[in-house]
Amino acid sequence: MNSTIGKRKVPVTAEHRIGLMGGAFNPVHYGHLAAAEEARESFLLERVIFLPCSQPVWPKGELADAEIRFSMVALAIAENKTFTCSRLELERSGPSYTADTLRFFHASHPDWRLFFITGLDAVLEFGSWRDPEGVLELAELLVVTRPPYQIPPSFPLSGNLRVHLIRTPGLALSSSEIRDRVRSGRSIRYLVPPLVAATIAKENLYQERKE
Ligand code: ATP
Ligand code: MG
Repeated sequence: MNSTIGKRKVPVTAEHRIGLMGGAFNPVHYGHLAAAEEARESFLLERVIFLPCSQPVWPKGELADAEIRFSMVALAIAENKTFTCSRLELERSGPSYTADTLRFFHASHPDWRLFFITGLDAVLEFGSWRDPEGVLELAELLVVTRPPYQIPPSFPLSGNLRVHLIRTPGLALSSSEIRDRVRSGRSIRYLVPPLVAATIAKENLYQERKE
C-alpha cells in the first residue's frame, strides 16, 4: 500500500478529483464523516459523494428503511458544501456493487478522477468484492484506518499504486454500536450528529434485536 500522503501538494489542473463513499449508513455516524473529511483534505477532493445503498451486499442487523437512512445522511452533511449524497445506489434493486457504481460515474462523468473511500475493514475483504480489478481500474482506493482493524503483513494490496492509506486519529465507532446503544437505551449523543439522533428517536429506529 502506498505510504500516507498527508497534505501533499497537487498541481493545479482542470482535473475533477471526486470522492465516493458507499455504505449502508445504518445510521450514519461521526466515524463516516471524519473518514470522508480526512480523505477530502488529504487528497484535495473537490467533493465527496455519499452513496447509501438500498440493500447491503452483506446485510447486518436491523436495516432501517432506505429513505430514512438516506435522509439521515442528507441531514448529517447539510452544512458541508463539499459533501453531497446520491440516490444512485438507493434506486437500484438488489445489492449495490462498487464496480457498477464506478462504471456509472465513469460513463456519466468521464472527466472525473474517481477516488473510492473505504474503511480498512471493508478493504481487508477486497478479494471478495465483485470485479476487484475493475474497481481498481476505474478508481483509486482511499483506505481510511479504522480501529481495531490492522493491515496484515501479507495484505495483497500493499504496494499497489492505486491504493492509498490514510491514517486518521481513528474513531472506533460503527453503526452496529450505535444500533446496539439505541436498543439498550444508552446515549448516542456526540457519536452521531444531533439531527440523526433526533430522527432515530422520532422514527423509533433500532429497537429490535436482529444482530
Ligand atoms: P455496520 O456496523 O452496520 O457494518 P459501519 O459503521 O461499518 O456499520 P457501513 O455503512 O457498513 O458502516 O460503512 C460504510 C463505509 O464506512 C465502509 O467503507 C466502512 O469501512 C467505513 N467506516 C465505517 N465506520 C468507520 C470508522 N469509524 N472509521 C473509518 N471508516 C469507517
Ligand atoms: Mg460495516
